[in-house]
Amino acid sequence: MPGIVLLGAQWGDEGKGKVTDLLADDMHMVVRYQGGNNAGHTIICEGRILKLHLIPSGILYPHIVSVVGNGVVVNPRVILEEMENLRSLGISTDNLRISCNAHLILPCHEVLDGLSDDARGGGGLGTTRRGIGPAYADKAMRVGLRAEDLLERGVLREKAESLFREKNRVIVSIYGGEPLDVRRELERLEEQAEALRPFITDTSHLVREALSEGRNVLFEGAQGTLLDLDHGTYPYVTSSNPTAGGVCTGSGAGPRDLDEIIGVAKAYLTRVGEGPFPTEQDNEVGSAMQEKGREFGTTTGRKRRCGWLDLVLLRYAVRVNTLTALAVTKLDVLSQFDRLKICVAYRRKGRPMKDRPASSAAFRECEPVYEEMPGWGCDISGVTRLEELPGEARRYLEFIQDAAGVPVKIISVGPDRSQTIMVDGEVRTPRQGRFLFQDDLPL
Ligand code: GDP
Repeated sequence: MPGIVLLGAQWGDEGKGKVTDLLADDMHMVVRYQGGNNAGHTIICEGRILKLHLIPSGILYPHIVSVVGNGVVVNPRVILEEMENLRSLGISTDNLRISCNAHLILPCHEVLDGLSDDARGGGGLGTTRRGIGPAYADKAMRVGLRAEDLLERGVLREKAESLFREKNRVIVSIYGGEPLDVRRELERLEEQAEALRPFITDTSHLVREALSEGRNVLFEGAQGTLLDLDHGTYPYVTSSNPTAGGVCTGSGAGPRDLDEIIGVAKAYLTRVGEGPFPTEQDNEVGSAMQEKGREFGTTTGRKRRCGWLDLVLLRYAVRVNTLTALAVTKLDVLSQFDRLKICVAYRRKGRPMKDRPASSAAFRECEPVYEEMPGWGCDISGVTRLEELPGEARRYLEFIQDAAGVPVKIISVGPDRSQTIMVDGEVRTPRQGRFLFQDDLPL
């Protein structure tokens, strides 16, 4: 079963980092297939903080080949900084491979991201202003630069110069911004190209080779299903496809290579930023989830909106990703509640609905229909076997599993690697890891 996909089944921040770490021991390759430096983890290593926004966390393990797939947009400055930080901690980057077809985020994209979001005023999408949307836009316009352009000096200079000049015209004439110094930017890009060249290759070929040899390849999604550009809650979405279809377009693997598709979902639900959220608890329940689950963005410190688990949206995630299993995280956060609510359907204009409506206007009008369940009222953060979970917690999970129609195979009851229940009984010996995984970034 070599092709394993791990993706967020909700609005991101589901705890994918911990689950990737759990599976890493058995992997030969970890592939990121979408997004840019708007995802990732803070890793605490020997008292030092390391932020990885672009390079897959597989890089922490010497036996893993870490691939930045063609579906990712790569900022050369950021990836070089991450590589430098890793090396300064004694972590080798020799096993890093960057797809020659990955598009580049250049300084003009970062500038334009900020200018265009400002220009939208209060109606801004609250992007991370890292140039990710504009780089994907250039990819779709077929004017973007790709990692392959870094391989040949002459080609790079010519293409980059024409792109920089065109973007300067937009920066100045549309937004009244400061133009970029084209000569300086070209020199910088050429230096970056020099440093990145050895890592750029046809990664789709590497992925194919690994899969053909029957090796385990983990495709690691960033963000989550409901932030998917096509299948998410548009326009409050990211500019790529975190859903399972994105694995193929973003890595070069084929649909039949995906043997297991694991959706990571919290036992409740959170959302960062704007947009409809039917089960949101803008009250003491939500605050208690926020507090216990530490639902605050790492960079912004912004509170994540919290609410009860929404099975309509979870079933949707199962459908659009053809999930084969679920990993349910942060179950421990619900221990504090005497009674739990779980959304089983919606009501819109008085009419019941089983599915999420496709139109965003209709989705905004959906009200949750809840089923109530008793809580378990005790600490479960030390439980490592399913049988040891209180009956109420097991029933809560069974309810999710029945509604989703796919098995819950991993249950997480705390941030530590040891605080995990592997449902198939395959409990791994908790490793004394060097690394501690922390938070993610929004969008
Ligand atoms: P990602 O955005 O999906 O990659 O999420 P992360 O892996 O960065 O996890 C988000 C946060 O939740 C991190 O600070 C984790 O340490 C924490 N976390 C993960 N699983 C659990 C869990 O089961 N219980 C609790 N309390 N925290 C968890």
